[in-house]
Amino acid sequence: MINIAIDGPSGAGKSTSARAAAKELGFIYVDTGALYRAVGVAALKRGIATADAKAVADMLPSLKIALRFEAGEQKVYLNGEDVSKTIRLPEASMAASDVSAVPAVRAFLFDLQKTLARENDCIMDGRDIGTVVLPEAQLKIFLTASAEERANRRYNELISRGTPVEYEALLSEIVQRDYNDSHRAIAPLKPAPDAVILDSSDMGFEEVVAEIVRLVKETVPDEA
Ligand code: C5P
Repeated sequence: MINIAIDGPSGAGKSTSARAAAKELGFIYVDTGALYRAVGVAALKRGIATADAKAVADMLPSLKIALRFEAGEQKVYLNGEDVSKTIRLPEASMAASDVSAVPAVRAFLFDLQKTLARENDCIMDGRDIGTVVLPEAQLKIFLTASAEERANRRYNELISRGTPVEYEALLSEIVQRDYNDSHRAIAPLKPAPDAVILDSSDMGFEEVVAEIVRLVKETVPDEA
């Protein structure tokens, strides 16, 4: 199987560009952030403080999280309920960041990610895919962009959807999440030593997708 790891900070355009590149290559696209979001949403639904590591860990045995691919789209199920929309709510972002620092949560989601990669040609995106989950991936990309540019893109995206937001609030949330993700003790966000660094600050969406596809074809010329 061909496994491509894409890591990087939130808002660097990983999910949109990885999804488009996977479609072009005929691979499945696995958004691992959705799994952490589902755990975060489970905690919120049950009134469990997401920063309470013990309470979050104790909740895990009662969770069944599954990814299903319907017409090429990834859907996330939490105990049989489709939570694909709920996990995108702003409160789910911080909840995901909190629970992702709990070692038991990372262990809980590890096998699921491994199995998906073993069974499918895939582009998997996250924070620790190249470093922890798929260190044997044929290609690792670290996709990044400046915090200001990422806040800008998110701002434009939300405004175009009619969601009122403040740029400064988005920027500070991004800076806070970057800090959390790169300073946690377990699986901190950092490029794998052999990752290709792709800075998309001055690149358009299509350019990023084309570059990912080019890198994949260059790495696995026969299969892709
Ligand atoms: O990518 P997304 O923003 O949906 O991820 C939500 C949160 O889940 C991130 O802020 C990060 O804390 C966590 N995450 C992680 N490891 C991954 C994917 C996401 O810790 N592989």
